[in-house]
Amino acid sequence: MRTKLVAGNWKMHGRREMVASLVPTLVSRLPQGPEVAVCVPFVYLSDTQAAIGGARLQLGAQDVSECEDGAFTGEISAGMLNEMGCRYVIVGHSERRARHAESSQRVAEKAAAALRAGMTPIVCVGETREERLSGRTATVIAAQLAPVLALGASLVERLVIAYEPVWAIGTGLSASVAEAAEVHADIRAALAKVSAAAAKTVRILYGGSVKPETAPALFAVDDIDGGLIGGAALDAEAFLAICNAA
Ligand code: PGA
Repeated sequence: MRTKLVAGNWKMHGRREMVASLVPTLVSRLPQGPEVAVCVPFVYLSDTQAAIGGARLQLGAQDVSECEDGAFTGEISAGMLNEMGCRYVIVGHSERRARHAESSQRVAEKAAAALRAGMTPIVCVGETREERLSGRTATVIAAQLAPVLALGASLVERLVIAYEPVWAIGTGLSASVAEAAEVHADIRAALAKVSAAAAKTVRILYGGSVKPETAPALFAVDDIDGGLIGGAALDAEAFLAICNAA
């Protein structure tokens, strides 16, 4: 059985004050079952790690350079994130694909860099509203996944994948359980073509307007192994309720 994972994606939100209040609350009330992570802005990794102490809450970042340390102004390497105690790093979030022109090839290179440094990348894929309406969801997701799956079985087996329909992110419009289940099953089938172990072990998270009210039905689906949570991760009660549903 795959252990469920609920990862909060703080995006560009928060101040040190928020770290100081939210993280200890999470630490003190973590549910037993699922693994829980917070992916915070780079500048708050250190404060967050200190607030976590030895607790089970996992630390994550929201992006990583595909390059090794070097002359890359403004970039953060996988080795640096690993040194800060990151277990997870989100790669290929749709906000980065759209605003920073990250190609699927580059996302795969970022995932590989994270894996080389011993971290687990959370690889995000998802279709836009227009792509869904024109019946291209499966094709778009297969194309986004292709360079990642080409990393080979031994690396793919160590990934987490997040299905995040772009039209559901921050909009209050979650995919229906049936819509999410269909895409998750497709992703699981694509993993099976790489290796049986990958299909069995890789966790596929759903993300996009997950709320305490919608989480239980989503997390009850076999192929949905947890969530990537944006807005609701900024509120301790909402985030803990979602974690409790996993
Ligand atoms: P949301 O964001 O929960 O606010 O929709 C999810 C995400 O972008 O990871």
